[in-house]
Amino acid sequence: MIIFICISIASILLLNMTIMPMLNKSRIKETNYSFFLDMLDENKIKQVKVESSEIRFEVEEDGKKQVYSTARMNDPDLVDRLHANSSVVFTESFEENNLLLEFIVSWVLPIVFFIVLGNLLMKGMTKRLGGGNAMAFGKSNAKIYVKAQTGKTFADVAGQDEAKEALQEIVDFLHNPKKYADIGASMPKGALLVGPPGTGKTLLAKAVAGEADVPFFSISGSEFVEMFVGMGAAKVRDLFKQANEKAPCIVFIDEIDTIGKKRDGNLGGNDEREQTLNQLLTEMDGFDGQKGVVILAATNRPESLDPALLRPGRFDRRIPAELPDLAGREAILKVHAKNVKCDDNIDYNSIACATAGASGAELANIINEAALRAVRNGKDRIDQSDLEESVEVVIAGYQRKNAVISQKEKEIIAYHEIGHALVAAKQKDSAPVHKITIIPRTSGALGYTMQVDEGEKHLMTKDEALARIAVLTGGRSAEELIFGNFTSGASNDIEQATKIARAMITRYGMSEKFDMIALETVNNQYLGGDTSLACSAETAAKVDEEVNSIIRKCHETAIEILKNNINKLHELAAFLLEKETITGDEFMDILNKEPALNV
Ligand code: ADP
Ligand code: MG
Ligand code: ZN
Repeated sequence: MIIFICISIASILLLNMTIMPMLNKSRIKETNYSFFLDMLDENKIKQVKVESSEIRFEVEEDGKKQVYSTARMNDPDLVDRLHANSSVVFTESFEENNLLLEFIVSWVLPIVFFIVLGNLLMKGMTKRLGGGNAMAFGKSNAKIYVKAQTGKTFADVAGQDEAKEALQEIVDFLHNPKKYADIGASMPKGALLVGPPGTGKTLLAKAVAGEADVPFFSISGSEFVEMFVGMGAAKVRDLFKQANEKAPCIVFIDEIDTIGKKRDGNLGGNDEREQTLNQLLTEMDGFDGQKGVVILAATNRPESLDPALLRPGRFDRRIPAELPDLAGREAILKVHAKNVKCDDNIDYNSIACATAGASGAELANIINEAALRAVRNGKDRIDQSDLEESVEVVIAGYQRKNAVISQKEKEIIAYHEIGHALVAAKQKDSAPVHKITIIPRTSGALGYTMQVDEGEKHLMTKDEALARIAVLTGGRSAEELIFGNFTSGASNDIEQATKIARAMITRYGMSEKFDMIALETVNNQYLGGDTSLACSAETAAKVDEEVNSIIRKCHETAIEILKNNINKLHELAAFLLEKETITGDEFMDILNKEPALNV
């Protein structure tokens, strides 16, 4: 800012010193004293202004006025001479008006211009720095909510009962600190909400704000990250100062991993982030637990947080927000269905069954997609079919109705999908087939077989894992059997099968070669669950061999199953080709009816 003011002043001075004189010069012609005397004699001079070192005079030539200036000579008779010429007005300043104008042009306008420019720049800068006043360095820009301003309460959060219970206790403490003080219990200073994305962590915090009768400061971790070192720390200081003034209150820091990453001694460490974190640690120690400032934070990368943050006295309480189970999914669907018009007899349970592994955010999205579909189809309320279709939209993308697929390819796809379904149906450890379709989707899938477990599964047995791999290889097996050739269509199946087989060996201890040893560690369990190998290169080679042998065995099983049911394979594929989409029931009917005639 100071720099800006300096630059402005410098440029105004420069303007006045160089450009204005030049402008004046162009208006005023320099001339010599004899010319002045000549003009005076010729009676052409209208006005004369005698200054200490120069004489300016205005001459009227051919109706045009021209100002000249000349150096002042030691001329004692000047006044007499001017006086003798009665038409000359002299010593009067004839530029009075112009002077005012000149002053405005050379000083006032530039200053106004720079002030306006400065304000504009400031606004731009403030926007980039994320709100606040750029003059006030390091002011926290936490939003303050008071009760019900977020419009969310615990009723808006379905499932997540443990999390709600833990948070309810905090809210209760803030309402009624005496109850806790009487027994001598002190509230945890901080609670950390952890869980995969979309499980409602931010929502829970908003619900706490709605439930609590106290001020609620909400800020995102990324808002502490500033362009200049030290600003983030200043913001933390300011935030806690405000919180202390408003105590009892709740401070919520969303996505805390942006500032709370482990501090490692690596070169090129992020100074700004570390300073911010250190300030946060200091502030959390600094305030009085009895005063009633409770800090909530949310993250989906708890393993990357600095251990200092997690020690008792700081975020000592960890509140998990896990992916919802079957009952949780049903409850979330119902909560969101309240906001849209639905048929009365919707079977939410079946939708919940079909969405194993979906997060709250995805379920909310499913309801919204269903509503959009209902509108598209000109209905005034959502029915079951909308919901079922939108599950598929969220899983596999929209239908590509006008994708052109040749008959030959369609046939291959039909056999491929029936291959999956048949292998699934003929193994006892497989989930039942729910739906088979060969309508291409925007995700790139050309068709798929949906299997839906009836209940909630928490564990996977070795047989189930093997059955799953066999089902995944079933599509390719059918292609091999019928067409004697391979297509690229099995790439996704191959990827999944490999993932399962690898996990069986490296993480679940399900292979014959290795005992219960962890050959891989999961890096971030809530974000995709990437793994990294934790074994020697020789072992890694053996793991690859073992993966190959597991998949090969399963592949052989799948081919065996299809060979034994080759007639059904033909019959079902022909049926699918004709219908494009068949339900699990239709599939089972054909499968279970009298053996078809040999085709
Ligand atoms: P995150 O855990 O990533 O912070 P959010 O709290 O932002 O997730 O959740 C995103 C959206 O998902 C919410 O706005 C809400 O609509 C929906 N949602 C997630 N979990 C639930 C839940 N348990 N109950 C109801 N809605 C939920
Ligand atoms: Mg969030
Ligand atoms: Zn497939």
